[in-house]
Amino acid sequence: MDKSRYTLGGATWINLLNTINKKREDLLLDHKKTYEWLVENHLLRSGDSEALDTPETMQSLVKDMKELRNLCEMVMTEIEQQGKLSPRTIDSLQKVAEQLRVIVSVVPSAEKIGLIHQGATLFDHVRYHILHSILHTLKHVHPDRIRKCEHDECILHFLDTSKAGKRRWCSMETCGNRQKAAEFYARRKKQKDTD
Ligand SMILES: [Zn+2]
Repeated sequence: MDKSRYTLGGATWINLLNTINKKREDLLLDHKKTYEWLVENHLLRSGDSEALDTPETMQSLVKDMKELRNLCEMVMTEIEQQGKLSPRTIDSLQKVAEQLRVIVSVVPSAEKIGLIHQGATLFDHVRYHILHSILHTLKHVHPDRIRKCEHDECILHFLDTSKAGKRRWCSMETCGNRQKAAEFYARRKKQKDTD
């Protein structure tokens, strides 16, 4: 499978939302795909891959991710409907933040020194990055640039980071071409009917 689908949302929280695809298939029901999704979204610390070999750990992580995904869904719905978050959703985000245990370390490197934030556990790590991603998007991205794919049957979302701001599809290869083909045949049919 094309793994670019795991990251086409352009922000980790939207990528999590997109784990339910257009056919309403839930990627999180599949442990292998969930693992790939976590890797592609850079959400695993060193040692986490081994820990996820234990099915129980994977199952509880998935349970956690589904709860986070519900929160992401609430955020997305409110942005789409009112362009901002309700006090209730802000409160839910605050609750996630309150429970987080994050370790901050200074990472020296040859080029530049920096700070990294890592969850104390894998669960904290995933929660922290999803929360961070939501707040980063809300702070830096205009609601107009948070889009749903225009294909009728598609439910995937993405951040439009294009310069012109005219991105319409989650992916040109799938939805874009399919929709364009559909529009072409619809036009041709209309033309034929009027001939
Ligand atoms: Zn699409």
